Amino acid sequence: MDPSGGAAEGRVRFVADAVVPCDGRGTVLAPGVVDVDDGTVTAVGPADGRPPADGRPEVRIDGALLPGLVNTHCHSPMTLFRGTGENLPLDRWLREVLWPREARLRPGDVYWGMTLACAELLRFGVTTTCEAYFFDDALTDAVVAAGSRALVTPGILRLPGQDAPDWWERRLAGIVDLHARRHGEAGRIEVGFAPHAAYTVPLPVLRDVAAEARRLDALVHLHLAETAREADAFTAEHGGSVPEVLAAAGVLEGRILAAHSIWLSERDLDLYAAFDVAVAHCPQSNAKLASGVAPLTDLLARGIRVGLGTDGPASNNDLDLWEEVRLAALLARLRTGDPAALSATAALDLATRGAGRALGRSDLGVLAPGAPADLVAMRLDDPAFVPLLDDAMLLEHLVWSASSRLVTDVWVAGRQVVRAGECLTVDVDEARAQVHQRARRLADGT
Ligand SMILES: [Zn+2]
Repeated sequence: MDPSGGAAEGRVRFVADAVVPCDGRGTVLAPGVVDVDDGTVTAVGPADGRPPADGRPEVRIDGALLPGLVNTHCHSPMTLFRGTGENLPLDRWLREVLWPREARLRPGDVYWGMTLACAELLRFGVTTTCEAYFFDDALTDAVVAAGSRALVTPGILRLPGQDAPDWWERRLAGIVDLHARRHGEAGRIEVGFAPHAAYTVPLPVLRDVAAEARRLDALVHLHLAETAREADAFTAEHGGSVPEVLAAAGVLEGRILAAHSIWLSERDLDLYAAFDVAVAHCPQSNAKLASGVAPLTDLLARGIRVGLGTDGPASNNDLDLWEEVRLAALLARLRTGDPAALSATAALDLATRGAGRALGRSDLGVLAPGAPADLVAMRLDDPAFVPLLDDAMLLEHLVWSASSRLVTDVWVAGRQVVRAGECLTVDVDEARAQVHQRARRLADGT
């Protein structure tokens, strides 16, 4: 790696053994070139026949250059709760373990939980994360300081002790205020809304949230049909499935991202397609919590936008999106009994271009002119990449043989944030110590 990569701001030309632009067509440019001006990609193409670098310093990548991965569903500060309440069903885990701990949270806990998560995400090549959590300023501060990129969608969920009659209204107003203050900050923060789910947030509140989000062209990010039990209980109470009830109430109009989306009927799938609801598919969290396997190929066949998510680190338990890529393909093949069910290109798309589209951000997860220079360099000299006989095999290896261990260097908006596997923007030792000590306090209830 050229050491000048540490100052990859301003005008830079990256020259890589292979550029994988993640354009949805399986393109590989070997060797390839990516030009960056002031944090934005200006040109992508094969190295052969490129116009002169025009004075740009060259950063040589011994390996592949990809767009930064995009995590569409996470609660990253839950690094504080990693490994707690293992083996419980979702409803008991939420009510007995998580929510009582979350009621004790302070802003500093969220700041450090998010900071540690940023180091982990960036190290894995995940440059954008869609976050649903609390203490929104602390979370945003951590993302900005770590040099990462996030869709901050503050969680709307009443925890134990939050009993004020106007609690919902005040929470919604607080998020609108956050949007006014911090949306667009550092060019790396987008603010949306995350009402937890239709079974935890009253329908009139969901309607108000959706209306505010439409007014601000903001994302509404919620959990939907994660467990059969929750979906069945909702239908029994409301006389329709969650998508049916939300559609009838006007909640699905706007930018909607429905995490999990496992227990959906044919009619629900049709509603998703009709309202252009996007899905954050979280196969590892769903498997670990035995929630089910989402109908991924049915969603994609209907043209529904899908991206991958890790979910929070208390239910996965790491933030390694590369694991989701492979598991999504494996589960899609098992569910359909079809070894061609999800190609390597399609699987990688779910963590890159497809994930950006699921967030309503077609500029993310791609290397194309106008996209932010969120870049990931991966070494190809690993034994698992042998043999490498053609470009198609490179994509197959990236999905079936590679993993986050091959990520060497990462840039966000042209700024290098990981070099030779080390996060440059976070004091990882300090973050580890902070999270460890705070996790103990939250568990002990002191
Ligand atoms: Zn979640």
